[in-house]
Amino acid sequence: MTTNEVIEMFNKYVIANYNRLPKVIESGRGSYIYDTDGNKILDMFPGWAVSGIGHCHPKVVKAIQKQAKILLHMDNTFYTELQGRLAQMLGERAFGGKSFFCNSGAEANEAALKLARIHTPKGKYKYITALGSFHGRTFGAMTATAQPKKFESFQPVVPGFVYVPFNDVDTLKKAFDDEVAAVMIEPIQGEGGINVATPEYMKAIRQLCDKNQAMMILDEVQTGMGRTGKWFGYQHYDVVPDIITLAKALGGGVAIGAMMAKPEIAASLTPGTHASTFGGNCIACAAGVAVIEAIEEENLLQNAVKIGQYAVDKLNKLKSKHSIIDHIRGKGLMIGIQLKSPGAEIVSNCLKNGLRVNCTQDTVLRFMPAMNVTAKQIDEAVKILDNVLSEMKK
Ligand SMILES: *Cc1c(COP(=O)(O)O)cnc(C)c1O
Repeated sequence: MTTNEVIEMFNKYVIANYNRLPKVIESGRGSYIYDTDGNKILDMFPGWAVSGIGHCHPKVVKAIQKQAKILLHMDNTFYTELQGRLAQMLGERAFGGKSFFCNSGAEANEAALKLARIHTPKGKYKYITALGSFHGRTFGAMTATAQPKKFESFQPVVPGFVYVPFNDVDTLKKAFDDEVAAVMIEPIQGEGGINVATPEYMKAIRQLCDKNQAMMILDEVQTGMGRTGKWFGYQHYDVVPDIITLAKALGGGVAIGAMMAKPEIAASLTPGTHASTFGGNCIACAAGVAVIEAIEEENLLQNAVKIGQYAVDKLNKLKSKHSIIDHIRGKGLMIGIQLKSPGAEIVSNCLKNGLRVNCTQDTVLRFMPAMNVTAKQIDEAVKILDNVLSEMKK
C-alpha cells in the first residue's frame, strides 16, 4: 500500500487519539527505521524509549522466536521458569526486590499505588506526586500525572492525590500528614522535559517517607533499564526506594511492565488483591531476559555514559552556534535540549532530513537514542540538527 492509502485506512478505522507524523514505517534495525517510500531515518527516539537497545536487537529477536515454538503464554495458575528468571535478574540488580509483571507503565504504576495503600497503616490513602510528572493514562496513573490539562476533561478523577512542585523540599514537607500513603516521582521527569531530581530532594523524600510510614515509589518506566548509565535511575543517588516501576525498554520492543518492591512490602500483595492476565507472559519474559543479557554482554551501561557525554559535548558546541538553544541537560542517554522557543517545526524539519527527534513541553527537544548508538550516528544526528537550525534562521 502507498503512504496515502495507509493514512486513509487509519482515518477511516483507527481512532485519531495521536498526532502522527505523515510517514508509514515498515521496518527497523538498530538506530534506523525505514519508511514505505524507501527513506532511511536515523532514530534518536526509538519507540518512545521502548527500543532501548535499538530496533529488532538480534538477541531479542532470537529469544522470542525460540520461545514462540515452545509456549507463547501461560496463565498465572502455574509457574514458568522464564518469569522467575526475569524476576531474579531484576531483583539482583535492584535492592533484592520482588517483581509483579504486567503489560505497561501505567499498569505498573497502578500496582504500585495499590500496594502502597494495602501495605501502609489503615487511614493512609493520600499520594503525593510532582508537577510536570507523567505516570500513564489509566485513571489512577492519569490522576497521579500532575499535569491538570491531561485530566480536566475526565473529572471526577481518583481522590487522594496531592501535587507539589518538583525538587522543592519545603513544599513537600508541608504536604505531608498522617494520611499520606506514598510519594511517587520520576528520578528524571521524562515527558516533563528531562528534569533531573536533586540529591537533596531524593534524600528528603526518603526521610519523610520513613518518618511517616509512607512508601517511596519511583516511576522508572523511562529511566529504568540502563539509559541513564546505571540500571535504574535511583542508583545515581544515595537512597533506596520501596517500590519501583518499569516498562518501556524492559521488553526491547515487546509489551511488558513490572512493579518491584522490597520483599517485606511485596508480601502485602496476597492472592486476590491484584492480578494481570497477560502479566509475565512467556514471550515478554523471554524478551526481558534477552534485553538484560544484551546490555551486559555489550557493555551498554558504559556506552550510555560514554556516548551520552559525547552527545552532550557535541550539542553544547551547537549551542554556541545557535542562539535558540538555551542549555542541555540530562543523564547518560536521556538528553534534553532546552530551547528558547517552540520546537515542533524543528522536529518536522529534522524528519524531512532523515532524523527523528522528539519535542516535549513545547520547548524541550529529546534525544533518547538506543544504548548501542555509535559516536558516528551521534555525529550524523547533530549534523542534521545543525543544518536544520541554520536553514530555519534564513
Ligand atoms: C511512558 C511512561 C509511563 C506510561 O507507560 P505506558 O506503557 O504508556 O502505560 C509511565 N511513566 C513514565 C515515566 C513514562 O515515561
